[in-house]
Amino acid sequence: MPETITYDALLSRIQAHDGAAHDVFDPATGALIGRAPVEDESALERAVERAHAAQPRWAALSDDARRAYLHDAADAVERWAEPLAELLSREQGKPLEGLNARFEVGGCVAWLRATADTPLPHEVVVDDESTFAEMHYRPIGVVGAITPWNWPMMIAIWQIAPALRMGNTVVAKPAQSTDLSGLAIAAILNIVLPEGVLITVTGSGRTIGQALAAHPSVGKIMFTGSTEVGKQIIEASAGNVTRLTLELGGNDAGIVLPDVDPAAIAEGLFWGAFINTGQTCAALKRLYVHDDVYDDVVSHLAAFAAAVPMGVGLDTGNLLGPLQNRKQYETVARLVSAARDSGARIVLGGEPDPAAAGHFYPTTIIADIDPHNPLVVEEQFGPALPVIRYSDIDGVVALANESEFGLGASVWSRDRAAAQEVAGRLQAGTVWINSHGGLHPMVPFGGAKHSGYGREFGIEGLKAVSEPQVVVG
Ligand code: NAD
Repeated sequence: MPETITYDALLSRIQAHDGAAHDVFDPATGALIGRAPVEDESALERAVERAHAAQPRWAALSDDARRAYLHDAADAVERWAEPLAELLSREQGKPLEGLNARFEVGGCVAWLRATADTPLPHEVVVDDESTFAEMHYRPIGVVGAITPWNWPMMIAIWQIAPALRMGNTVVAKPAQSTDLSGLAIAAILNIVLPEGVLITVTGSGRTIGQALAAHPSVGKIMFTGSTEVGKQIIEASAGNVTRLTLELGGNDAGIVLPDVDPAAIAEGLFWGAFINTGQTCAALKRLYVHDDVYDDVVSHLAAFAAAVPMGVGLDTGNLLGPLQNRKQYETVARLVSAARDSGARIVLGGEPDPAAAGHFYPTTIIADIDPHNPLVVEEQFGPALPVIRYSDIDGVVALANESEFGLGASVWSRDRAAAQEVAGRLQAGTVWINSHGGLHPMVPFGGAKHSGYGREFGIEGLKAVSEPQVVVG
């Protein structure tokens, strides 16, 4: 029978039919869109057992066979791309168009294929008269994949694809507020994968996530989420010496040098900060602009921002959406209020519509703000950007590095050498020059300081889900 590829067919594959479940609401409209299962620790236990049982067979396949499975999985995601994007838009809130839902599903396909195509041969480490030693990369076993709600399909693929490629099986745990998206992407992969290789368990972080991190049969946890929960995972997994890749919070600084053309950089600054309505780990979250160009940069940025439509994701033309959940809305509202009360200048936005049905917070730009204001120091994770004036490069580098976070940063200048010199002084896992936040499946990504440790993507990413073994002789 040919597959029926519709939104309803996708939903019926993943909906909770019996047992404990929670209602899922569209954050743009408040409409009920489905019910997601709430599983308990016994479900997690069964999932780990199944994944553990399936792992030796999966690991025994050739690398080429597993690569072929990943390409088949990418084909399946391509076939189901439109229903997946619709579900993502309804549940996460992001619009279909722009750098949003269709883009995210496309990212899943791109990362599956790039992960399949990245070669990782044995590496000869010494070859001399007395010694021949090679590094081989072996499977670890069962990998736990714990994801956040901002890019719920793509981040799941970032964790799942390399783990599978390297011969591990995976137990995935989506964020509870985007359970359906996590279940859906895994369900589509499972159209082609063998039984037991990828299992998703939904439920609260405190029960399912914690139990997964603490499970003695789980050899590695890939975690993307907040620094606070990252620390809980370190503690929960310590007794088992579980390997960890931690992609945690960020508060990325952008530094604009005095030689820029403010009109030319406005679009790049805007999307660096407001991609996914600001709900992106490596979004630009505090912008430092040199006094010489400050007023022009702020006015060009605000003019660009004012023209970008925000609204219900399924409606044509929208490029920004609501906050995904009420808690995040309240964080943004609190930080903007604190900034306003401190005397900072609201250049754009800052006045949410109290009658709006969803969690919409308007695009907000705040100028002349103190560098130690909470909106600058904390991770806002939403559409409110503070723009801080500076005049001294050493001072601004020090401010950028004051944060406990160190995920990304950017430097904006016409002079590449000058920008690179500043980049070299910033404590961040990635520094972009004249852009912010762009990711590539072959370019390693990860954080410094409290933004985590380990790197994803490319060869580094494959090594991160392997056990290195030296073979001598
Ligand atoms: P979160 O830390 O609240 O939750 C992330 C995941 O952890 C969810 O699946 C949650 O259910 C689970 N969880 C919660 N408590 C747990 C526990 N005790 N043990 C194990 N798992 C537990 O994060 P969030 O609110 O979903 O996402 C937003 C945060 O994620 C932001 O700080 C953002 O910067 C960060 N983030 C980082 C990256 C990155 O690559 N560095 C990417 C996206 C998001």
